Parts: sequence; C-alpha cells; structure tokens
Amino acid sequence: MILVSHMIVGAAIGSRIHNLWLLFFISIALHYAFDALPHWEYHLRFQGSNPPKKKLIAFAAKIIIDLLTGVILVFFLAKNSPDRSFMLLAALFSLLPDGLTFLYIALKKVFGYDDKILKKLFHFHHTVHISKNKNSPVWGTAIELLIIIFSLFVLLR
Ligand SMILES: [Zn+2]
Repeated sequence: MILVSHMIVGAAIGSRIHNLWLLFFISIALHYAFDALPHWEYHLRFQGSNPPKKKLIAFAAKIIIDLLTGVILVFFLAKNSPDRSFMLLAALFSLLPDGLTFLYIALKKVFGYDDKILKKLFHFHHTVHISKNKNSPVWGTAIELLIIIFSLFVLLR
C-alpha cells in the first residue's frame, strides 16, 4: 500500500491500543498483512540495470509527496485527540517495514553495504507482499479504499 494508507491504519490502531509493545507488533503485522492483499501502489518502471535519472526523481517525488500527505493528515487527525502520542507512534511503526526496505536498498546501492538483518527483513517483506501479476488495479484500489474508510471509521468514532 502507499505510505499514507499505512499511516492512517497506524493512527487508527493508536487511537484504540495504548500498550507500546502491542502497538508496535500490531502496526507492523498489519503492514505486512495489508501488503499481502491486492492494493494500490506506484512502481519504478525501467529497462536495464539502472533507472534513468528522470524516472528516479519522479519516483522519489511521489514517495516524498505520499509521506508528507501522511504526516499532515495524521497530525491533523491526532491534533485534538487524547490518544495523540499513540496515534503518531503507531503511524510511525506502520511505516517501518517500508522504511527498512528503503534503508536496505539505499545502503546497498550507495555504500555497497549488504546488512544481514536488513536483508532478511527485505526478503520477508518481498515474500509476503502480493506479486505484481496478482495485484489487480481495480481490486487493489477498492480494497485499499475500504481499508482507509474502515480506519477512518475506527479513528473518528
Ligand atoms: Zn510495505
């Protein structure tokens, strides 16, 4: 799923669960669970071994816009809530699997450093994540929208 969706799910979890360990594990477990379902996402499509600079910049821009939208939205949703800290923390925890994937790829590409723990997490994320050929855009968009609507319902009740 895109980052903003993961963050909304996290905020919803944080609005209901106030045990830090439980918050941590449920946020991460739901990230993997929802990545296993058809969902909406953007890809870096290119041929050859290295993406062209223009495509890389466009891809990075999408991620930054996605992340900023999530941050603004979660801060807005949490603003007047007594569960504010838990909502913000769970939104952050919900991003960890993608954040660690990014860290693994960045360390490997930029510094040639192949971290063993990050590599295991990267492969786990890749294994549970729905494969590209099974991820239908119609079902993906519908399921991701339902997850967002349900999360907002939990949050605003
Ligand atoms: Zn993910």
